[in-house]
Amino acid sequence: MTGLTNEKENQIIERSLIKYLRENQVKQFREEFLELHPYDQASFFSEIDEQDRHLLYHYLSPKEMAELFENVGLEKEQIQVYLSEMDPNYAADMFSNMYADDAVDVLNELDKDQVARFLKIMDKDAANEIKDLLHYEEYTAGSIMTTEYIKIEANQTVRSAMYILKKEAPTAETIYYVYVVDQDEKLVGVLSLRDLIISDDDTMISEIMYERVVSVSVSTDQEEAARMMKDYDFLALPVVDDTERLVGIITVDDIIDVLEEEASEDYSKFAAISDVDILDRSPLAAAKKRLPWLIILLFLGMMTASLIGIFEATLEKVAVLAIFIPLIAGMAGNSGTQALAVAVRGISTGEIQKETVQKLVAREAGTGFITGLTCGLIVMILVSIWQNNVGLGILVGISIAGSLFVATLAGTLVPLIMHKFKIDPAVASGPFITTINDLISILIYFGLASILIL
Ligand code: ATP
Ligand code: MG
Repeated sequence: MTGLTNEKENQIIERSLIKYLRENQVKQFREEFLELHPYDQASFFSEIDEQDRHLLYHYLSPKEMAELFENVGLEKEQIQVYLSEMDPNYAADMFSNMYADDAVDVLNELDKDQVARFLKIMDKDAANEIKDLLHYEEYTAGSIMTTEYIKIEANQTVRSAMYILKKEAPTAETIYYVYVVDQDEKLVGVLSLRDLIISDDDTMISEIMYERVVSVSVSTDQEEAARMMKDYDFLALPVVDDTERLVGIITVDDIIDVLEEEASEDYSKFAAISDVDILDRSPLAAAKKRLPWLIILLFLGMMTASLIGIFEATLEKVAVLAIFIPLIAGMAGNSGTQALAVAVRGISTGEIQKETVQKLVAREAGTGFITGLTCGLIVMILVSIWQNNVGLGILVGISIAGSLFVATLAGTLVPLIMHKFKIDPAVASGPFITTINDLISILIYFGLASILIL
């Protein structure tokens, strides 16, 4: 089999797997199923119903189930269901066979006493590794690292290091880096598999190892670890405790999960929906989270409405002014959101630091000026022709130009100010900026109108 290249092939395989499964054709099932990538195994697993899953638990060994389970999504309810279906000893054996960090991810979705029960009946060594990892605070390097790494000592030869590598390879999460520690387990060096392979068998490790090891501490924020991984282009990053002792590694696949998690978290905040577990919340709970924002926005909207009320006299004189309100407010909102996205992204990736703030503000001001001028000119010409009124064209044109300029600046400055006051800038959400910009643009439009017309 060549792997799942398309949807159709996928369906055919799935159908025959289900058939084998239900007709008790264990051998054929295992032959075909175990050839699949664990990710595809997990997709199959999450699509079948309870009866079929029970068969699967019988057909697969705990070790085989472990590989599959490392790829099952981390949805609390689902995980609870799966584990309640399994025989506890089978589940415990499965956890023993998983990479410790993946096992911890799954266990974190369970209740404390449930976890304790599994740890009790698990293989002792595996249980201890998992216990150590469960202690680390969420969102730290410690919580995403794994303890299955390869370590060697400086005063040994490449030959003996290769021997250790071979011995540890079946259970290590990555074999591409070996870490060198001293008697106190302190991290003193690193070598890649490539470095080892190209060296003479009798060379001492101390001669060829890199001593300037880049590492993170167990308490480092996972986002910071992700950033370092990206900057240095490593496939794994060592994690040390307070006394510089090597306690784990973070591999690049864990970092990809972190990036995804952080991105969706930032996005939720960006849209004024704080917090992430979007699916497992009741309508009431979700409404509770969003209502405070909506109510603040409602009041801001009321301010805009009363602002229009103040200019009622102007509006009565020139009723045609009203038809351009949505256009001007909408354009201001659009450009503000564009600028906001740039600023929030820059802040959350760490690209925007103290020194670059001025540069960003200056650039956004320039951008606001150019986009404002261009859109203003286009609108001016269109309105002049359409309404056959050059004065109105100029008024709407200038309003658009002014609003775009101010809105772009607001979209940049608000998140920067929030960041400075240590409020997460991603909370300076899109709807918020949009509403503020409505206010500003209406003020500019009617302010100008009443000056020009009176
Ligand atoms: P290259 O990219 O030069 O071909 P490579 O592909 O063998 O090297 P990389 O993963 O790119 O390996 O790592 C580059 C070098 O960085 C390796 O020699 C490795 O020993 C070293 N290295 C790995 N991890 C660390 C670390 N945490 N701190 C410092 N150096 C490290
Ligand atoms: Mg490389």
